Formats: sequence, C-alpha cells, structure tokens
Amino acid sequence: MIAPGETIGILGGGQLGRMLAMAAAQLGYRVHIFAPEPDAIAAEVAAAFTCAAWDDTPALARFAADCAVVTYEFENVPVTPLAALGTTPILPHPKALETGQDRLAEKHFVTALGGRTARFAPVDSPDDLAAAIAQVGAPGILKTRRDGYDGKGQWRIGASGDTRGLKLPAKPLIYEGLVRFSAEFSVILARRAPKSSAKNSDTKNSDRGDIRFWDSPLNEHEGGILARSSLPAPAAVREQVAAARALAQKVAEALDYVGVLTCEFFATQDGPVFNEIAPRVHNSGHWTIEGAITSQFENHIRAICGLPLGDTTLIAKGVEMRNIIGANQTGPKTGKWAAEDWDKILSDPANHLHLYGKAASRPGRKMGHVTRLTLA
Ligand code: AMP
Repeated sequence: MIAPGETIGILGGGQLGRMLAMAAAQLGYRVHIFAPEPDAIAAEVAAAFTCAAWDDTPALARFAADCAVVTYEFENVPVTPLAALGTTPILPHPKALETGQDRLAEKHFVTALGGRTARFAPVDSPDDLAAAIAQVGAPGILKTRRDGYDGKGQWRIGASGDTRGLKLPAKPLIYEGLVRFSAEFSVILARRAPKSSAKNSDTKNSDRGDIRFWDSPLNEHEGGILARSSLPAPAAVREQVAAARALAQKVAEALDYVGVLTCEFFATQDGPVFNEIAPRVHNSGHWTIEGAITSQFENHIRAICGLPLGDTTLIAKGVEMRNIIGANQTGPKTGKWAAEDWDKILSDPANHLHLYGKAASRPGRKMGHVTRLTLA
C-alpha cells in the first residue's frame, strides 16, 4: 500500500493528469508530472514537474527515483523507454498501453475474449486497401493503427468503396466496416489489485480483484470528438450494459488491470459492439466528479495506491456533461459553450464549470467541461 504523503508520478500533462493530481492532493499525496510540453496544464497543480521527451531515459530514471508509483493519463506514451523506470511500479501495467496503442492488436485481443467488434482488416500498405474493402465491405472507416485520437487519423469510405483521391499516410492502417448503431456508450470501471498479490494479503477474500463500475453514460460525438455524456442513458444503452460490462471485466482481468479502465461501445440491434479501450480515466467519466459518490479520478488514485475503492453510485436522478471545445467545432446539436463563456455558464447556479487552464483555444481542443445534475 502506498500511504498518503508519498509521491505519485503521472506520465502526461493534460487535463486528465490535472484532474488526477487534484484528486491525489485531496487524499494527501504529492504528485510529480512527467510530460514533454513545457506548458503542461497538469504541472500547474502538482508538486514537481519533469519536462522531458518520452525517450529521455535519464530523466525517466530520475523521475522514477522520486515516485512510489507511476501511472499515466495519456495512452500513447511510448512503452519501450519505460524500462528506465526500473523497479518503480507502473500501474496500470504497461501491457494495457501496448494493447490499446494498436487498433489491430486491440481488436484481436478483444475478439479472443469473445467480444464483438466492427468487421476489420489490416492495411499495411496502400496496395492492401482494395482487398481490405472487398473483404470487409463498404461503407467503412480507414484509421491509423497508432496515435489516432478524437477522430484524428480517420478517413470515411462511402458505400461505393471509391478511394480515388484519398491521400493516406505511409503508416500501418486498419479498415473497419461502418457499424450501424443507435447509440454510443462507455463502460468505466475501477479495479484494485487482487488481494492475494497485494503486500498486506488477506487470504479470506477472493483474489479476483475488487471491481466497481460507474453507470454507463450515453456519449454523443461531433466531428469524432466527444461533445456530451449524459445519464440516465436511454433504454437502447441500458439493455446492453450488462453484456458490455462482462466483456470489460474480462479485458481488465486479462490485463491484470489496476486503476480506471474505459471501454467504448456501440449499441446495435445485435448487442454491444466494442470500439476501443482507453487504459485510463476518460472524458465520458468526467461527470463522476459531481455525479457519483466517488469520482473516476479518486478511484484511480485509490486503486494504484492499493487503498479501498470508493462507492461509484450515481447520486442524482440525471447528469449531463458537456465539453467546452475550441472554436468552430460546436454544432447546433450538442455544442453550446466556449471557454470565454465562463461568466454566462456560472450565471446558472446549477452549472459546475471546469476549465483546464489551456492558454490557446484551437479548433477541436478540449478547453473544459460543464456538468449539471438533475436532483429531482
Ligand atoms: P474512435 O477514434 O475509433 O473512437 O472513433 C471516433 C468516433 O468515430 C466514434 O466515437 C464513432 O462515433 C465513430 N466511429 C469510429 N469507428 C466507427 C465504426 N467502425 N463504425 C461507425 N462509427 C465509427
């Protein structure tokens, strides 16, 4: 167990790291951020900051020497240089990073566990594209296998399967059939290490780890970016949560997962279709700060420190979380606020405003979010 007062290292300096650092501080921990960007917004609320490249192994070793445990808030942290962290534990285990970093490996992993995914085929070079489309069918989406997020690195292919004029990067890609879904949702869980492998082992308890799920929100995207998460989710989602949770639990157990894990799903006529893993706290779980007894950020810190997990129960009748996204990405359906609207947002006393402290607003950049609870 890592006791309050010790130092937690976080790889990544964005808003997820910032909210993790705030939860850690509440529990009395010191936080050390490691990130390559000098203006890391997580560092502003942390005790220490190492600004260095992901492959700067001497800097990683010095960082590890200051930390009792290291976690991550960014799923594209390069895995190989993490060997420089030596004996400092990394939680969740880096195999979760490896699995989530490659869309092809991730799909094979999940289908081997019995999960359903979109139909898919690898596209290792442009010559493979026609065969992949013939195999999977059109319409579909071509995605970079690595480093894609928030809809970046994706190209839609129409029903005709026509790919003329498509300018693709010289990187391994994956082609996915377009899933016809009625809604998107996520399963967010926290898992603590099985007690038999913890230092203070309690053999009376089961050794399957302690898993808690939050309610699954309906997630609405605009331009590939999450715009809104809300609860209660519609029946089309609620009916599929049990099956999706069963798969997410298998994923967590197969990865010996410790911390908060998110699995994204499409609700379809034939049940939940797995989309992707985020081996970290997730944007669709921001509502848990005000809307659940224990937030995803606090339970992640509890899990990696070996503390008992907090109750994940929803405390309101309903919750809505809207992202504040940089200019031009706000559409009529769900986009509503800009970061400059902070006074307007706060003029409604029911709104909880979270601004991430990012200096410059760019199109598509997540600047903050607003959460509202419905109490009666
Ligand atoms: P991703 O980066 O894979 O999460 O994709 C971003 C968004 O694009 C998803 O949340 C969906 O709205 C949409 N999307 C991705 N893959 C598919 C698919 N195979 N079929 C339909 N929509 C998809």
